[in-house]
This record gives sequence, structure tokens and C-alpha cells, in this order.
Amino acid sequence: MRHIIKLPIVGQKTIAQKTNEVSFGLSDKEFVFMAGQYIQMALPELLYPDPKGASRTLSIASSPNDKEKISISFRDSGSGFKRTLMELPLDTLIDVEGPFGFFTLPRSTFQPVAFIAGGIGITPCISMIRFADEIERPGSIILFYANRDKESAAYLNELETIAARNPNFILKNKFGRIDAEFVQNSVTNMSEAIWYVVGPAPMVAAVRDVLFRLGIDEGKIRFEEFTGYE
Ligand SMILES: Cc1cc2nc3c(=O)[nH]c(=O)nc-3n(C[C@H](O)[C@H](O)[C@H](O)COP(=O)(O)OP(=O)(O)OC[C@H]3O[C@@H](n4cnc5c(N)ncnc54)[C@H](O)[C@@H]3O)c2cc1C
Repeated sequence: MRHIIKLPIVGQKTIAQKTNEVSFGLSDKEFVFMAGQYIQMALPELLYPDPKGASRTLSIASSPNDKEKISISFRDSGSGFKRTLMELPLDTLIDVEGPFGFFTLPRSTFQPVAFIAGGIGITPCISMIRFADEIERPGSIILFYANRDKESAAYLNELETIAARNPNFILKNKFGRIDAEFVQNSVTNMSEAIWYVVGPAPMVAAVRDVLFRLGIDEGKIRFEEFTGYE
């Protein structure tokens, strides 16, 4: 059975270059999800035309421990959907369906994890990193985060702050493309880690090749493709 709830917009802000975050208030409602999952959301109206309609799939960036709101973030492409989402008045009710997906932390909290996020692919990772930090997850997490430049790197300050105080979280930031050298030189226990690769489809395909070349067992890699970005 489909489960759709109506949640009000409670925040709209720019968090990096051409990158926006929108939050939906939970108030008395409960929205149970696991860090790393995504939602399907539909707007009540479009203020600008959009050939793909008023609905999109978006990962949740906030932590499940945040009981006041859920947040999503996205690159601003100029699509009618995204322009509308940023301009609808606060308190407008949005249809939210979900949560969906299995791109979530391993059951064992001791399992080392390596994330490779390209650009806006950071959204499910920031949710998992926030959550892991809050629950003091004992297993190590390393994040390889690639962006074109500093200005477009969403959540970078927050990630640096967590890395500075949490010895279980290592941030490897790069402006440019992920290559084998960047990954290889940074991970000591590569054979033990579960790998999570997320971002626009071309980035995921490129990183898949890098990991295979490094000899990482396919069974230890999980992929999440943000289809819809060219
Ligand atoms: C599991 C999953 C999770 C996802 N999570 C996220 C997420 O957290 N954040 C996120 O941003 N995306 C996420 N996506 C992708 C998301 O669903 C959209 O496909 C994506 O954001 C592109 O939507 P859009 O409205 O920008 O482009 P679309 O309207 O879908 O158009 C596709 C392309 O056309 C271009 N385009 C569209 N309209 C215009 C216009 N008016 N002028 C110029 N160019 C235009 C866009 O640049 C885009 O490249 C996820 C996808 C999946 C499957």
C-alpha cells in the first residue's frame, strides 16, 4: 500500500553554489526512515512549466534523529520543479512518499565503511555520517568527496568539523575527479571495508571502474545512481 504524508515546507536555503536545501516540518507527525534512504515527493502545483512533472526522487540529507524536520538538497538545474520548490511559500504542503532504498549503513556498527560521493551525491552520505556521529558508531567511516571546486561542495564545513573531533570519521576531499591513486593512497584496510558509491550516473560508472581496478570485491560495493542528471 502506498503511504503518502503531507508535510509543510519549513525552510528553503542555498547551501553551496547552485545547491539548495529544503526542509519539511514533522511537528506531530512521525516519519521513520534509515539514514541513506530517499523519498518521492510531489508538489501541489508548478509555478513554472516542467516536462517531467511535479514529482522527483530525492535522498534525505538530515539524520533520522532529527524529529523536527527532514531535509533534502539538490543542484539547481533551473528545472520548473526545482524553481517552484524554492519559491513556494513556507507552510505549503508537499506530498512525501517513502522512505525507500537500501543504501543504508551496515547492520554491524563495527563494520568499516568507505563512501565515495560525487557532488550532490553527498546527500545520503551526510545523513549517514551525521547519524553515525550522533550515535558514536564505533566502526570507521572514510568519505571520498569530489566536487568541481570548494564553492560547490555542499556540507563541507560541517564534514570538516565532524572529522576534526570524531576519530572514527576521515574526510578525503578533492576538487576534481576521483581516480585510483586518490582512493588507494588513503585506505589501509581496503579489503575489510564496505564501499558505497553515489552520485550522477556517469560518476558512478567511472568510480565502479576505479574500484574494480583496485581489486575490490564486487560484493562489497553498493551503488546509488542519481538518474536524471546528464
Ligand atoms: C535514488 C535517487 C536519489 C536521488 N537523490 C537526489 C538528491 O538527493 N539530490 C538531487 O539533486 N538529485 C537526486 N536524485 C536525482 C533527482 O531525482 C533528479 O533526477 C535530478 O535532481 C534532476 O532533476 P532536475 O529537476 O534538475 O532535472 P530534470 O527536469 O529531471 O531534467 C534533466 C536534465 O535537464 C536539465 N534541465 C531541466 N530543466 C532545465 C531548464 N529549464 N533549463 C536548463 N536545463 C534544464 C537538468 O540540468 C538535468 O540535467 C536522485 C535520484 C534517485 C534515483
